[in-house]
Amino acid sequence: MSSASKARMPVIFFGHGSPMNTLARNRYTEAWRNLGTNVPKPKAILAISAHWFTRGTAVTATAKPKTIHDFGGFPQALFDVEYPAPGDPVLAARVRDLLAPIPVQLDQSWGLDHGTWSVLAHAYPDAGIPVVQLSMDGTRPARFHYELGRQLAPLRDEGVLIVGSGNVVHNLMLMQRGEDAPAFDWANRFNEMVRAALACGNHQALIEFERMGEDARLSVPTPEHYLPLLYIAALQAEGETMACIVDGYEAGSLGMLSAAAGMPASQETVSELAKRPLT
Ligand code: ZN
Repeated sequence: MSSASKARMPVIFFGHGSPMNTLARNRYTEAWRNLGTNVPKPKAILAISAHWFTRGTAVTATAKPKTIHDFGGFPQALFDVEYPAPGDPVLAARVRDLLAPIPVQLDQSWGLDHGTWSVLAHAYPDAGIPVVQLSMDGTRPARFHYELGRQLAPLRDEGVLIVGSGNVVHNLMLMQRGEDAPAFDWANRFNEMVRAALACGNHQALIEFERMGEDARLSVPTPEHYLPLLYIAALQAEGETMACIVDGYEAGSLGMLSAAAGMPASQETVSELAKRPLT
């Protein structure tokens, strides 16, 4: 356990977009890199990835999690990526205890999926910090995920960086040609609703996103990329602001919003850097 003087760790939601961002350098990946250097060095990372959507809740409990290439149709270079961060079985057990009485399986078979490593490869390129993944129970409603997130709050004072990785807007069926294709109107409207709710701490609106009707149905056709955001919102402490780190769209229907709460004073620098064009 960390000393009482240790700073509370921020919480971060990464909009990961295409797995190819792992190998790219663009304004999103630069923003993720800046986060890695601006956040106090964590003792460990707990990641909630869109790509580990399960029946029941599980946490990776191996000492050496494998890099999972959970996609098809991408260049070999992406399959060659390894993110050899160690695991942290002690943290896995701590997560299980914090989430009791909800049963949490200590998993020995998963590893780190691309929702986690595509962003951590930029934020922490040396893969030196232990990483544990928490799965999301796909049989549960949005409010369950939000409440689960709240139970993880003590970890912020124990040197653990909690990250969610998904996309606020994620519609693969309606993707347009070209990474820079303009966003659909429904995508913009839904993303702006989420940004406004994050900015004013209206977590109820985030949980009840389906009230946005057709905009929500098109932006969140399946919930797994949206739900990691609810864990991060739930972890926002009283008096903290949620800062937009970077925002934009890939292929018209993938929202790239990343946001963080509890950043050190340098968070303004992060936001400014994220807006700066690449040189
Ligand atoms: Zn994804």
